[in-house]
Amino acid sequence: MTRMHAGFTGVVQHEWPRPRGFVAPEQLETLGIDALPGVGASLAKRLRALGIETVRDLLLHRPRRYEQSVDEIAISQLWGDDEVAIAGEVVDVKTRRLGGRRTIVTARIRDGSGQIGASWFNQPWLAEKLTPGTHLRLRGKLGRYGFDVKSYDVGAPKATADFAPVYPASEQVPSTKLRELMRTALEQYGRFIPDPLPADLALPTRADALGAIHFPASLAEAEDARRRLAFDELFTLQLIVAGSRDDEATAEPLPAAGSLLDRYRSVLPFTLTEHQERAISEIDLDLAQRVPMQRLLQGDVGSGKTVVALYALLRAVEQSRQGALMAPTETLAEQHFLTIEPLCAQLGVRCVLLTGSARAKKIRDEIANGVAQIAVGTHALIQRDIEFADLAVAVVDEQHRFGVEQRHALAEGREPHVLHMTATPIPRTLALTIYGDLAVSEIAKPPANRKPIITAWVGAERSSEAYGRLRVHLDAGRQAYVVCPLIEQSETRLARAAEEEAARLHRAELAGYRVGLLHGRLKPAERREVMTQFKAGELDVLVATTVIEVGVDVPNATIMIVQEADRFGLAQLHQLRGRVGRGAEQSYCLLISRDKLELTDVALSRLAALVETTDGFELAEVDLELRGEGQLLGTRQSGWSDLRFTKLRADRDLLEQARQLARDLRDEDGPWLDAAERAGTLGAA
Ligand code: ADP
Ligand code: MG
Repeated sequence: MTRMHAGFTGVVQHEWPRPRGFVAPEQLETLGIDALPGVGASLAKRLRALGIETVRDLLLHRPRRYEQSVDEIAISQLWGDDEVAIAGEVVDVKTRRLGGRRTIVTARIRDGSGQIGASWFNQPWLAEKLTPGTHLRLRGKLGRYGFDVKSYDVGAPKATADFAPVYPASEQVPSTKLRELMRTALEQYGRFIPDPLPADLALPTRADALGAIHFPASLAEAEDARRRLAFDELFTLQLIVAGSRDDEATAEPLPAAGSLLDRYRSVLPFTLTEHQERAISEIDLDLAQRVPMQRLLQGDVGSGKTVVALYALLRAVEQSRQGALMAPTETLAEQHFLTIEPLCAQLGVRCVLLTGSARAKKIRDEIANGVAQIAVGTHALIQRDIEFADLAVAVVDEQHRFGVEQRHALAEGREPHVLHMTATPIPRTLALTIYGDLAVSEIAKPPANRKPIITAWVGAERSSEAYGRLRVHLDAGRQAYVVCPLIEQSETRLARAAEEEAARLHRAELAGYRVGLLHGRLKPAERREVMTQFKAGELDVLVATTVIEVGVDVPNATIMIVQEADRFGLAQLHQLRGRVGRGAEQSYCLLISRDKLELTDVALSRLAALVETTDGFELAEVDLELRGEGQLLGTRQSGWSDLRFTKLRADRDLLEQARQLARDLRDEDGPWLDAAERAGTLGAA
């Protein structure tokens, strides 16, 4: 077997000085960011807001782009408006006020050829730092106030270096600071970064790739490094997929569907669509096998997957065995429970909800002694320590992490038939590759009674009209959602902002209506209460954070307002929008954006795409096109976010290679799984 992989022209070896203290690779994975010199409590907190909690998180913080390469020229040669670098020493410094709180610091810089005033805006503290005689390197261009400084270095070029990384940063942690930290992290820990790939692969090491992704000597080097890191991600994924496929595993075949399923069809208030029926017959075929089912049920939001999933669960119940439905979050588990429990009740099937709260003991017992026929809970709860009397069918919902870990866990102990559900619109061929060996059923069309949701893009200045529209729906007896802005803050802050917004709306636009509030900080019982009320029509409007993104199913809700919609990712908006349009009524989604002039091109394109189409697959394509920039907010739920370095389209070849390698290794021997798991925590985590 040859293990040469094309596409790497070699990453330059970076020489990092020896670190001070020894750190074992396992430690590196959990090493808090505050272990870095210069990171105190306050900076650590600001970094956390960027999603950086550990040194590993920092090293995996991918540069959004790189500075271009520019010429360093003599001051006397400055001309035109290209960006350039100059170097010289400070002669003197002046600070002026420009009106308001705006200031300008101007330092006269001299080199052998001449001198020029270099200007910084709104950084008055610089005046003290730039003492006469300080040697500076500056990057910028000629402007109104002499040389407009874009970045500068005291001493050796870092910020002004060609291809210096520019990070998705926040005002609290500028790119310059991240660069500094990145250097320190690489210097101190670079050589301890574990490498998941076998040494004989002739690829640059992972440590070198991380060095090069942050401080490349050229864009080509940065791209090579990215591909190496992408390969790690894909390899890890594929290895676990390959490893979790247990050829020996057997399951109990289930005999053909009987009267319980006939009754199920008759209690449903609608007939199943052709696509649902097809998915069901594919599931039936799987369940008749001795090999455990591993099927992916794919369908856009609102296409009717849950009904099919419940069918599979009831197939287990009919044989006096058990079914489990696993959701990624408690809220989602509760939603599912609210949807399927009433149907189960009509059929005389005992369905329980297992949450983390204290009273779970009784429920656990029911699951263990078989009284509970269907259990609904989160992935974590069910897979960790719950004992089933006789689990025959498991449904795993919305696994943004591609489901691999759970597949592993499930396949080991229990060997139930497994149905994975996803609304992430991955083109079918791609899904097949990513999910490894799963069979795929697709619900390609929503139920026929659906009218496509009408989406409108409304500027902030017309938001009162949007609320006027919303009230028309409420007055007609319909219900509505208002989604609060996504703020780049903690869940707690988000919850507080949502509370304030709900209170504000209740005083203003929604005065006189029954307004409920749903966010991630509510206790499970409170959350359940709110959802139950909304479902029962005891609330008119649900003001919510993105916790309603998936699973919430209230067909009477026909209009949604998304505030500051430009802050959300495309996939996320698509998921949110899927909360309406679930019944026969015409539904609307009003995307309120901030001033169009303030929006990035990417944000503009996203909103335009949403207005244009409701087709999840089309949107996925657009998302892939737009991906890269503007993804700071809203990636987490997008379904693609587990792959930080991978560009799914451009890296198809890597995916194939990673898959092949993973299979070869699985066939060879086991230790690579450990390596992959290690990489999983440093790589595709
Ligand atoms: P998904 O899980 O794919 O987002 P759901 O299964 O929650 O979609 O279904 C969305 C809505 O459509 C639910 O209110 C459900 O009751 C309804 N529904 C499902 N199948 C049909 C059908 N065949 N005809 C009419 N309505 C349906
Ligand atoms: Mg659903």
